[in-house]
Amino acid sequence: MTETAISKEPVKASEIDPKFKYELSRMHGGEKLLKCFQCGTCTSDCPVARFSDTYRPRTIIHMAQLGLKDRVLNSDTLWLCAACFTCTDRCPQGVEVASVIRVLRNLAAEKGIAPKVFKEQAASILDSGYAYKIPSLRIKKRESQGLPPLPKSNPENVRKALKGVKFLEKIEKEDEQDEQ
Ligand code: SF4
Ligand code: SF4
Repeated sequence: MTETAISKEPVKASEIDPKFKYELSRMHGGEKLLKCFQCGTCTSDCPVARFSDTYRPRTIIHMAQLGLKDRVLNSDTLWLCAACFTCTDRCPQGVEVASVIRVLRNLAAEKGIAPKVFKEQAASILDSGYAYKIPSLRIKKRESQGLPPLPKSNPENVRKALKGVKFLEKIEKEDEQDEQ
Protein backbone atom coordinates (compact mmCIF):
# COMPACT_ATOMS: atom_id res chain seq x y z
CA MET A 1 0.00 0.00 0.00
CA THR A 2 1.35 3.42 -0.91
CA GLU A 3 1.73 5.48 2.20
CA THR A 4 -0.16 8.78 1.86
CA ALA A 5 0.91 10.79 4.90
CA ILE A 6 -1.42 13.16 6.69
CA SER A 7 -0.96 16.50 4.95
CA LYS A 8 1.38 18.93 6.70
CA GLU A 9 0.15 21.92 4.70
CA PRO A 10 -0.75 24.92 6.89
CA VAL A 11 -4.21 24.50 8.34
CA LYS A 12 -6.98 26.72 6.98
CA ALA A 13 -9.82 27.71 9.29
CA SER A 14 -12.29 26.39 6.72
CA GLU A 15 -10.86 22.89 7.18
CA ILE A 16 -11.67 22.73 10.86
CA ASP A 17 -14.80 20.95 11.96
CA PRO A 18 -15.16 21.97 15.62
CA LYS A 19 -17.84 19.34 16.23
CA PHE A 20 -15.71 16.45 15.03
CA LYS A 21 -14.07 15.67 18.39
CA TYR A 22 -17.47 15.58 20.08
CA GLU A 23 -18.83 13.36 17.32
CA LEU A 24 -15.93 10.95 17.90
CA SER A 25 -16.29 11.13 21.68
CA ARG A 26 -19.85 9.87 21.40
CA MET A 27 -18.75 6.77 19.48
CA HIS A 28 -17.80 3.50 21.11
CA GLY A 29 -14.04 3.60 21.71
CA GLY A 30 -13.73 7.35 21.22
CA GLU A 31 -15.11 8.37 24.62
CA LYS A 32 -11.76 9.46 26.09
CA LEU A 33 -10.38 11.26 23.05
CA LEU A 34 -10.55 14.66 24.74
CA LYS A 35 -8.33 13.46 27.59
CA CYS A 36 -5.23 13.23 25.37
CA PHE A 37 -2.58 15.72 26.49
CA GLN A 38 -0.17 14.90 23.66
CA CYS A 39 2.56 13.20 25.70
CA GLY A 40 3.60 11.05 22.72
CA THR A 41 3.75 7.74 24.60
CA CYS A 42 1.50 6.09 22.00
CA THR A 43 3.85 7.02 19.18
CA SER A 44 7.02 6.10 21.04
CA ASP A 45 5.66 2.62 21.88
CA CYS A 46 3.92 1.92 18.57
CA PRO A 47 5.63 -0.90 16.64
CA VAL A 48 4.38 0.46 13.30
CA ALA A 49 5.67 4.00 13.97
CA ARG A 50 9.09 2.47 14.58
CA PHE A 51 9.24 1.36 10.95
CA SER A 52 7.36 4.22 9.29
CA ASP A 53 8.46 7.78 8.57
CA THR A 54 4.89 9.02 8.61
CA TYR A 55 2.71 6.87 10.85
CA ARG A 56 2.25 8.62 14.20
CA PRO A 57 -0.77 7.73 16.37
CA ARG A 58 -0.23 10.85 18.49
CA THR A 59 -0.61 12.98 15.34
CA ILE A 60 -3.80 11.14 14.35
CA ILE A 61 -5.27 11.81 17.80
CA HIS A 62 -4.18 15.45 17.63
CA MET A 63 -5.72 15.96 14.19
CA ALA A 64 -8.94 14.39 15.43
CA GLN A 65 -8.97 16.72 18.44
CA LEU A 66 -8.36 19.72 16.19
CA GLY A 67 -11.26 18.79 13.93
CA LEU A 68 -9.16 18.14 10.83
CA LYS A 69 -11.65 15.56 9.70
CA ASP A 70 -10.94 15.43 5.97
CA ARG A 71 -7.17 15.32 6.41
CA VAL A 72 -7.35 12.38 8.76
CA LEU A 73 -10.01 10.45 6.89
CA ASN A 74 -8.30 10.88 3.53
CA SER A 75 -4.90 9.66 4.67
CA ASP A 76 -3.83 6.11 3.83
CA THR A 77 -1.62 6.34 6.90
CA LEU A 78 -4.71 5.69 8.98
CA TRP A 79 -4.79 2.15 7.62
CA LEU A 80 -1.30 1.22 8.76
CA CYS A 81 -2.36 0.56 12.36
CA ALA A 82 -1.87 -3.11 13.19
CA ALA A 83 -4.46 -2.97 16.00
CA CYS A 84 -1.98 -4.36 18.52
CA PHE A 85 -3.41 -2.11 21.27
CA THR A 86 0.02 -1.27 22.75
CA CYS A 87 -0.91 2.44 22.59
CA THR A 88 -4.17 1.83 24.42
CA ASP A 89 -2.39 -0.17 27.13
CA ARG A 90 0.27 2.49 27.65
CA CYS A 91 -1.67 5.76 27.38
CA PRO A 92 -1.43 7.51 30.76
CA GLN A 93 -4.76 9.23 30.09
CA GLY A 94 -6.69 6.09 29.29
CA VAL A 95 -7.31 7.15 25.69
CA GLU A 96 -8.29 4.12 23.63
CA VAL A 97 -6.01 5.13 20.79
CA ALA A 98 -6.46 1.93 18.75
CA SER A 99 -10.23 2.24 19.07
CA VAL A 100 -10.20 5.88 17.99
CA ILE A 101 -8.28 4.78 14.91
CA ARG A 102 -10.87 2.05 14.28
CA VAL A 103 -13.65 4.63 14.57
CA LEU A 104 -11.83 6.89 12.09
CA ARG A 105 -11.39 3.99 9.67
CA ASN A 106 -15.09 3.17 9.92
CA LEU A 107 -15.96 6.79 9.12
CA ALA A 108 -13.53 6.78 6.19
CA ALA A 109 -15.00 3.51 4.89
CA GLU A 110 -18.53 4.93 5.16
CA LYS A 111 -17.40 7.78 2.92
CA GLY A 112 -16.00 5.26 0.47
CA ILE A 113 -12.36 6.04 1.38
CA ALA A 114 -10.52 2.77 1.94
CA PRO A 115 -7.35 1.42 0.33
CA LYS A 116 -7.93 -1.04 -2.48
CA VAL A 117 -6.24 -3.88 -0.61
CA PHE A 118 -8.86 -3.73 2.16
CA LYS A 119 -11.69 -3.67 -0.36
CA GLU A 120 -10.20 -6.73 -2.04
CA GLN A 121 -9.91 -8.47 1.32
CA ALA A 122 -13.55 -7.69 2.07
CA ALA A 123 -14.59 -9.02 -1.33
CA SER A 124 -12.61 -12.22 -0.71
CA ILE A 125 -14.26 -12.74 2.70
CA LEU A 126 -17.69 -12.27 1.13
CA ASP A 127 -16.84 -14.67 -1.65
CA SER A 128 -14.95 -17.44 0.14
CA GLY A 129 -15.05 -16.72 3.87
CA TYR A 130 -11.26 -16.26 3.84
CA ALA A 131 -9.39 -12.94 3.86
CA TYR A 132 -7.16 -14.25 1.07
CA LYS A 133 -7.91 -16.70 -1.70
CA ILE A 134 -5.80 -19.75 -0.84
CA PRO A 135 -4.16 -21.06 -4.04
CA SER A 136 -4.98 -24.69 -4.85
CA LEU A 137 -1.25 -25.46 -5.07
CA ARG A 138 -0.83 -24.46 -1.43
CA ILE A 139 -3.76 -26.63 -0.41
CA LYS A 140 -2.18 -29.59 -2.23
CA LYS A 141 1.14 -28.89 -0.51
CA ARG A 142 -0.59 -28.99 2.88
CA GLU A 143 -2.07 -32.36 1.99
CA SER A 144 1.31 -33.70 0.81
CA GLN A 145 2.85 -32.67 4.12
CA GLY A 146 0.15 -34.41 6.12
CA LEU A 147 -1.38 -31.18 7.44
CA PRO A 148 -5.11 -31.18 8.28
CA PRO A 149 -7.49 -29.54 5.79
CA LEU A 150 -8.32 -25.87 6.27
CA PRO A 151 -11.40 -25.27 8.40
CA LYS A 152 -14.57 -24.97 6.33
CA SER A 153 -15.70 -21.39 5.85
CA ASN A 154 -19.30 -20.24 5.70
CA PRO A 155 -19.43 -17.12 3.51
CA GLU A 156 -23.24 -17.22 3.50
CA ASN A 157 -23.31 -16.60 7.25
CA VAL A 158 -20.68 -13.86 6.88
CA ARG A 159 -22.83 -12.18 4.22
CA LYS A 160 -25.91 -12.37 6.46
CA ALA A 161 -24.01 -10.78 9.37
CA LEU A 162 -22.58 -8.03 7.18
CA LYS A 163 -25.95 -7.29 5.63
CA GLY A 164 -27.14 -6.32 9.11
CA VAL A 165 -24.57 -3.51 9.30
CA LYS A 166 -25.18 -2.43 5.68
CA PHE A 167 -21.63 -3.43 4.82
CA LEU A 168 -22.58 -4.72 1.38
CA GLU A 169 -24.08 -1.37 0.37
CA LYS A 170 -20.93 0.39 1.55
CA ILE A 171 -18.70 -1.87 -0.51
CA GLU A 172 -20.89 -1.37 -3.57
CA LYS A 173 -20.73 2.40 -3.04
CA GLU A 174 -16.94 2.19 -2.90
CA ASP A 175 -16.79 0.09 -6.06
CA GLU A 176 -18.86 2.68 -7.91
CA GLN A 177 -16.47 5.43 -6.74
CA ASP A 178 -13.45 3.38 -7.90
CA GLU A 179 -14.94 3.08 -11.37
CA GLN A 180 -15.47 6.84 -11.74
S1 SF4 B 1 -0.34 8.28 24.95
FE1 SF4 B 1 -2.42 9.04 25.32
S2 SF4 B 1 -2.17 11.08 26.17
FE2 SF4 B 1 -0.21 10.50 25.26
S3 SF4 B 1 -0.31 11.34 23.15
FE3 SF4 B 1 -1.03 9.24 23.03
S4 SF4 B 1 -3.24 9.37 23.27
FE4 SF4 B 1 -2.40 11.30 23.97
S1 SF4 C 1 -2.74 -0.29 17.93
FE1 SF4 C 1 -2.01 0.74 16.08
S2 SF4 C 1 -1.40 2.77 16.78
FE2 SF4 C 1 -1.58 1.51 18.58
S3 SF4 C 1 0.48 0.77 18.98
FE3 SF4 C 1 -0.56 -0.80 17.75
S4 SF4 C 1 -0.08 -0.32 15.62
FE4 SF4 C 1 0.43 1.50 16.87
